[in-house]
Amino acid sequence: MNYNITVLDGDGIGPEICAGAIKVLNAVGQKFGHKFNFTHKLIGGCAIDACGAPLPEDTVKTCLESDSVLLGAVGGYKWDNLPVDLRPEKGLLGIRKAMGLYSNIRPAKLWASLAEASPLKGRLVENGVEIIIVRELTGGIYFGERGRGGDGATEYAWDTEKYSVGEIERITRIACELALKRNKKVVSVDKANVLESSRLWRRTVHAYAEKHYPEVTVEDMLVDNAAMQIVKNPAALDVLLTSNIFGDILSDEAAQITGSIGMLASSSLGDGTRGLYEPIHGSAPDIAGKDIANPIATILAAAMMLRDSFKLLDECAAIENAVDSVLQEGWRTADIYEEGKNKVTGSRMACLIAERI
Ligand code: NAD
Repeated sequence: MNYNITVLDGDGIGPEICAGAIKVLNAVGQKFGHKFNFTHKLIGGCAIDACGAPLPEDTVKTCLESDSVLLGAVGGYKWDNLPVDLRPEKGLLGIRKAMGLYSNIRPAKLWASLAEASPLKGRLVENGVEIIIVRELTGGIYFGERGRGGDGATEYAWDTEKYSVGEIERITRIACELALKRNKKVVSVDKANVLESSRLWRRTVHAYAEKHYPEVTVEDMLVDNAAMQIVKNPAALDVLLTSNIFGDILSDEAAQITGSIGMLASSSLGDGTRGLYEPIHGSAPDIAGKDIANPIATILAAAMMLRDSFKLLDECAAIENAVDSVLQEGWRTADIYEEGKNKVTGSRMACLIAERI
């Protein structure tokens, strides 16, 4: 099969880590008989420099015409002082909106061979951990009405957490679809003991899942308890379904227990199969150009693309197994290095993974 992938390298380490993912995808193509066609387009700071805007129209058009999109990262010191509308991050928000992506899936996976890198004690993480947070991305308090009034001691400000049944149902569908491929269980996170929006969230999640996914079990967990369970017993958690703000906070907490931000991938999906796949980290300008950035997050993002956009399950597993092998053999980039292991550059790490496909 032929697949057209738009690559948005972005800024900082973006081009280095995307090159690593492309190397691995080409190895997959060769082994399984697929052809991946890559079209590189500009986003973020490099687009501002070249065209005066963080998201050129030509980039949007190419993304919408392709089968899926791989993104490195955007941003850097050079563009930090530009007006808000011209900042590199605007490109990211813009492309998510243009592609109609309302769900963000962030697997926080701790590989058993990296258990030492986790801040949690051995017995909690010795068999590895994988928590998948399915976060609603375009609604809730980040997009609700807000305002300010008054002055002096009576000055006030407010934000609104508002969700519609439709918004909750479509993110529930994404979580249930994912659960079907795993242990058929979704833990839905809310604050239904206090918030009206959470009470609608809870009722809607259950009604929708019972009607459309009767084989999936849905359990509720209050967000404060979820924050505790992530550090108390992470191995017991699998798919967590959350609103925008709860997912934002919990996914960073979950990421921390895995040891390095350089290992974590994410996907953003909408109604179709076309998605945006990226590492969760930023453009790391402090290490850009030194060939020390860990490419594994981006390589795992490419694996998610194969599974979730192209339904290439064996090919996805081939990448994950190759990453596992390389880690078990003791190869490490600087961010996950520990005494006694073999330190390699980012590009060498990508080669090692590609060789094991
Ligand atoms: P960052 O994620 O870029 O870096 C945080 C720390 O992690 C740095 O010390 C960096 O060197 C390290 N790091 C990140 N990725 C790594 C990798 N693959 N391998 C090894 N080490 C890695 O976050 P930041 O420093 O807060 O932000 C830098 C820039 O990235 C800013 O302009 C910010 O706005 C942008 N940013 C972009 C995205 C995105 O494109 N999705 C996300 C977050 C931040």
